[in-house]
Amino acid sequence: MTIDLHTHSRVSDGTASPGDLVRAAAAAGLHALALTDHDTTSGWAEATDAAAEAGIALVRGIEISTRHRGQGVHLLAYLTDPGHAGLQAELDRVVAGRDDRVPAMLERLRELGVPATEEALAEVAGDSVVTGRPHVADLLVHLGVVPDRDAAFADYLADGGPAFVDRYAPRLPDAIALVRAAGGVPVIAHPWGRGSAAVLGADALARLVDDGLAGLEVDHLDHGAREREELRAIAERLGLLVTGSSDHHGTGKVGHDLGCETTAPAVLRAIVETAAAQGSPTTLVGDVAGVV
Ligand code: AMP
Ligand code: ZN
Ligand code: FE
Ligand code: FE
Repeated sequence: MTIDLHTHSRVSDGTASPGDLVRAAAAAGLHALALTDHDTTSGWAEATDAAAEAGIALVRGIEISTRHRGQGVHLLAYLTDPGHAGLQAELDRVVAGRDDRVPAMLERLRELGVPATEEALAEVAGDSVVTGRPHVADLLVHLGVVPDRDAAFADYLADGGPAFVDRYAPRLPDAIALVRAAGGVPVIAHPWGRGSAAVLGADALARLVDDGLAGLEVDHLDHGAREREELRAIAERLGLLVTGSSDHHGTGKVGHDLGCETTAPAVLRAIVETAAAQGSPTTLVGDVAGVV
């Protein structure tokens, strides 16, 4: 059973439409896929329509941008109620903060001599509803300033870089509580990737369990073998679920092929059961036969 619980469509910063992403996952032999676009549920309907026909089970999720002790932390939220007003208001606030910062980043780039306009960005970002630094990176590639997204981050867009502009994000414990209140299952994405290890040590994770944290995404390409071993031991000690996933971004992120990292069926079952027990109206959809 191949289960991939973290992927992006072009609704955020992936490159395939939600429907094409679901079909690609089925074609790649996956049995279950979670769509977890950044800070939005906008892709859920299209992905749901595609899942039954493609022959795959769909887990509807979100990757929420949060902050913990000054550090950006991504929180995967599975099977939340999209009608929960509090969670939706918080997502709206995050997306508004993303929109506000784009002109500021383009302004910085122009000060650095790069002819980056909002019109050009809109062309590159296409129909995405959540703009992010990867879109600005694509613009830099399009303009021939850098060869790829990674170079754009290294030279301009990484935290503290010359064109970096910060944005609003909820506090991690608050976001965890909100996901639970919305019936969902909160799992920290790539907890020890890109700098967040410093604020997510064993003690910090134990406190987050008190806030309602349900799991850790241990099997992610950002983690090496030693980190996975250590995170797995922490998860076991704290009674946390352990997930694994590709964090697929289409052609936007090389090496993160669909299904390259996977989650155990028992863990998906626990996620589905937890959401149901919390009264969430959202559950697995699509071709669920044999998955749970
Ligand atoms: P944003 O959400 O707009 O702040 O952009 C963050 C996203 O950019 C993350 O979800 C990653 O997919 C990507 N990203 C962040 N840092 C880097 C980096 N150093 N190199 C390549 N991609 C990155
Ligand atoms: Zn992303
Ligand atoms: Fe992430
Ligand atoms: Fe992601």
